[in-house]
Order: sequence, then C-alpha cells, then structure tokens
Amino acid sequence: LSHALGAPGILVHGGAGPHRGPGRDEKLAGCVAAADAGWRVLSAGGSAVDAVEAATRVLEDDPLFDAGYGSYLNRDGIVEVDAILMDGRDRRFGAIAAVRGVRAAVSLARHVMDQSPHAMLAGAGAERFALEMGLDVPADSLISPGALALWQAPQAGLGIAAAPTEGEVGDTVGAVARDGLGHVAAATSTGGTRHKWPGRVGDSPVVGSGAYADDRSGAVSCTGHGESIMRICMAFVAHHALLTGRDPVEAAATAVQELAGLAGGQGGLIVIGSDGRIGWAMNTEAMPVAWHTTGGAGSAFDQARGPVGERLHGPAVTA
Ligand code: ASP
Repeated sequence: LSHALGAPGILVHGGAGPHRGPGRDEKLAGCVAAADAGWRVLSAGGSAVDAVEAATRVLEDDPLFDAGYGSYLNRDGIVEVDAILMDGRDRRFGAIAAVRGVRAAVSLARHVMDQSPHAMLAGAGAERFALEMGLDVPADSLISPGALALWQAPQAGLGIAAAPTEGEVGDTVGAVARDGLGHVAAATSTGGTRHKWPGRVGDSPVVGSGAYADDRSGAVSCTGHGESIMRICMAFVAHHALLTGRDPVEAAATAVQELAGLAGGQGGLIVIGSDGRIGWAMNTEAMPVAWHTTGGAGSAFDQARGPVGERLHGPAVTA
C-alpha cells in the first residue's frame, strides 16, 4: 500500500457518553483547541506521533474532560489515569495504567515507548518511571472541583458491586492523525470511569481496544464502556475493517455495531484512514469531535441515529 506524501490531518474526541447538562460549547471549544494544537504540529512538518501527543495534552489540561487534570476520581477519591500512544510506522506503542500523580499521561506513555524497553507500565512502577522522566506532579493536583463534586455524590461509599454503569461513561479523550509523510498515530487518555475500584483499568491503555495505529490501515481511538470495548478489541475491529477496504466512516460504524451487539455496549470511536480521510461513530447521546485536515476544519457534538442505532457521522473528507 502506498503512503503518498501530503494529506495530513487530525481528528480528536472528548469521549462518548451522555454529555447531559451544560458545557457543550466549552467541550467543543476544547476539542477545537486540541485539533488546532495537533494541526500546528502537522502543518509545520511534524509527525503524526507528535501531533496526537500535542492534541491530547491540551485535553488533559482541560478540566472538562476525564483525562489528566479533571479526571474522575476512583472510589477512594484518588485520580488514577490510563493512556496509550501508538505509532503506525512500526506499530510500537507505549501505555500506562492505574497511574497516580501524572497529568501528562499521554507523554508518560510516549516515554514508555521511546525511553524504555517495555510497552506498558502500571501502578507504582509507572509512577517511579514518571519521576525519572520528570513528569510526576502531586496527585492532588489532578483533582478538579467539578470531579470532586461528582465524587462527593452518594455512590462514593458503595462497594465494587456498585461500579459505574454504562450510562456514566464520558469525557475520555483521544486523537488520531496522519502526517505529511503518510504515517499515522493514535492516542487515548482517561481517568477511567467514575467511582471505579482502585486499580481498575479499562480499554483505553489496552492496545487494540482503546487505540490502534497501522500505516497500512489508519489510526483509531476509542471511548465508552471499557469492560465492553475490551471484549471486542474495538480499535482492532475498526483497523481490520479499514484493512479490508472499508472507508473510515464504515469502519467506525462497524466497530460500534459490534460493540452494540454485545449486550448493548455503549461507546464510540474516531478513525483516520491511511489516505487521510476521517470518520467516527457512537451509540451514546453525544461524542464531541473536532478535526483539521487539508480539506478544512470543523467540529460536531451529536448526530442523528443511523439505521442500526449507532450515531453515524463523518464527512469522509478526502484531504
Ligand atoms: N473507555 C474509558 C474506560 O472505560 C471510559 C470512557 O471512554 O469514558 O476507562
């Protein structure tokens, strides 16, 4: 397959979920700012890996999203983040899971990929690595007033049986990009689900579930109910659909259909093809997205239901 020059592009998401209540415009603005940050990297000739890292960092710093600062608290009132970054050139990735006291989770994942012989680090060992990389911060500094207020809601004292329901997912972040050399990359970053059990890890840092990138197919970042997404390896489902000739919109819809077929799993995903076209789908109320390609920039929050219940959308931009 060819990796033609040209046609850079970036697409970001701010989580599939109910997104009820205020904040719609602010979340869209956050996604636009992230896509812009990624686009600045791409238009300066930067790599897809650099672009998805830059975009994701913007969303990690934004308290409206469940990643970095503003992440949902676990049942003990502590933020534990998960993240992955994957390079489509050689399918190397770095991932971190159940890490406390790291705001730039996606950058820690990148350091795992670039600076360690490993692919995934979890818990205390990942925190020690963050310290060596100069990325650690006081754990309390990840707690936003909004996330604290949510945590103080009544569920806080309940046991593991009262784990969050699918309706409570949302606000996880991710980015996919294709650079001017034809390479793709994906990133996903999250604080996980509200009131999760300490040590709980969802799909986000799991390769092939929360993200996938392969120059032959494209790049994918997923969001939604992690326990369901992992069962179908949702990012890999989309990757496989691309490899077998589906366009990014079809690939995203295929993945959501497979998720929904699994006891009504809830979620969504963003996809950029190896040719720079983009697409996304979700079966939740909303999933804020923003993109910037040579074909133009835009954003979207929710869309009409598709024929099988997924909220199908994607301008199928040919960049
Ligand atoms: N997929 C994430 C998780 O299960 C949550 C989300 O996307 O909102 O941790």
